[in-house]
Amino acid sequence: MNQPLRVRYAPSPTGHLHIGGARTALFDYLLARRHGGAFIVRFEDTDQTRHKESGVNDQLNGLRWLGLEWDESVDIGGPYGPYRQMERLDIYQPFADQLIREGHAYHCYCSEKDLEEERAEQEARGEMGGYSGKCRNLTPEQVAAYQAEGRKPSTRFRVPQDRMIGFQDKVREHVEFDSNGIGDFIIVRTDGIPTYNFAVILDDHLMKIDLVIRGEEHLSNTPRQILMYEALGLPVPEFAHLALILNPDRKKMSKRDESIIQFIEQYKELGYLPEAVVNFIALLGWSPVGEEEIFTKEELIAQFDLDRVSKSPAVFDMDKLNWMNNHYLKKAPLSQVVELCLPHLQKAGYIQGELDAATGEWISALVGLNQERMRFAAEIVELSSLFFTEELIIDEEAAVILKEEHVPTVLANFLQQVEQAESFAVEAIPALLKQVQKETGYKGKQLFMSIRSALTGQVHGPDLNMSIYLLGKEKVGSRLRNLL
Ligand code: GLU
Repeated sequence: MNQPLRVRYAPSPTGHLHIGGARTALFDYLLARRHGGAFIVRFEDTDQTRHKESGVNDQLNGLRWLGLEWDESVDIGGPYGPYRQMERLDIYQPFADQLIREGHAYHCYCSEKDLEEERAEQEARGEMGGYSGKCRNLTPEQVAAYQAEGRKPSTRFRVPQDRMIGFQDKVREHVEFDSNGIGDFIIVRTDGIPTYNFAVILDDHLMKIDLVIRGEEHLSNTPRQILMYEALGLPVPEFAHLALILNPDRKKMSKRDESIIQFIEQYKELGYLPEAVVNFIALLGWSPVGEEEIFTKEELIAQFDLDRVSKSPAVFDMDKLNWMNNHYLKKAPLSQVVELCLPHLQKAGYIQGELDAATGEWISALVGLNQERMRFAAEIVELSSLFFTEELIIDEEAAVILKEEHVPTVLANFLQQVEQAESFAVEAIPALLKQVQKETGYKGKQLFMSIRSALTGQVHGPDLNMSIYLLGKEKVGSRLRNLL
């Protein structure tokens, strides 16, 4: 019987979980769950110059927040650990020895300086780079001479000449590379640490990975990896290379691009919902059957397939993400939205200290008033600023309304009602407005627009009764008095 599908996400722990990595992990996760398989998270930390100590936890926290639970990794272990490459160094060495013994690899004594000179010469001749193969066939005397100089060798893979290396990619279909375009590459550095290309094939093999899903930027590594599998007599896994994610200008995303939010951590901080982010990421390259765009994780698990993953780049559309998050926020329980908004209100200085019951209730009402239009929780600060500021900003449209003839009469009467009001609970507000109507004779737009403009500085906005209640007797009074 075939084993259940095993897939892996193998980030280098260089920082927070990026949207591209999150997509790879999500696709892995969905397939593993769909087929009752295993989702493995493993860390490729052999490039110690790019390594960041917090990188492992940053990645795991991002995945955890998205709800992509893994079956094997550094924290929970698993049958094929360790799950970080620097703890697996002993495992790799015998394979390098085997490649050398069988002539598929050789020691290279070229120093950084030698290689630089070689590159410069190649460039001067107008040739493409790639190692010349200078150390391919060293005599024992040459080796002895290098060793006498104290040089430490790296290990290079001997790339066979004149070979077409083809494979059937699950996304890109048939892909082919000419081996003559690939120079002999380093598999173990002079310090004994394997390079990515070498370690990755051994990990994938030893961890029994069936399908390697990763970004298209790794496509040119794949022929190198296939050659090594073949040289070691190991089965080659299947590959699926995911097309790039482009920014809204249809350009390649750079890490500094500010037109989009790139790190999962930032979504969390801004008060996006993980369900929305997962839903959005799933559609970066995958298209479901039919028009529906809203999917729960369970629905994605039931429907996701690589067959419907596009080989053309996906375009990151921030508006769509915001639309989607708004959709999920509208459906979320108010208490959850309040919890997401609270830290932002506190950070803005709008709310201080311990929350008493009355303030808690007031905040719930405030958030509830904005729940429909909020795209992400941090927006609550901007959306609700008019309830906190002492000095109201009146926009152009509202200013026009406030110049109308009937306005002073309406506002003066309303001020009177407010001052006399026994209750300022939200249920009590309609009666106050009704009273203004009765005493002034103004109703409808003339009544409501004047009051709305005076209190909120805007002609459009959330529910008027609720807004009046939220402002409270004091603020309503002072705003009316200022205008009058
Ligand atoms: N460590 C690689 C990266 O972070 C992943 C390589 C792979 O999936 O094979 O891009």
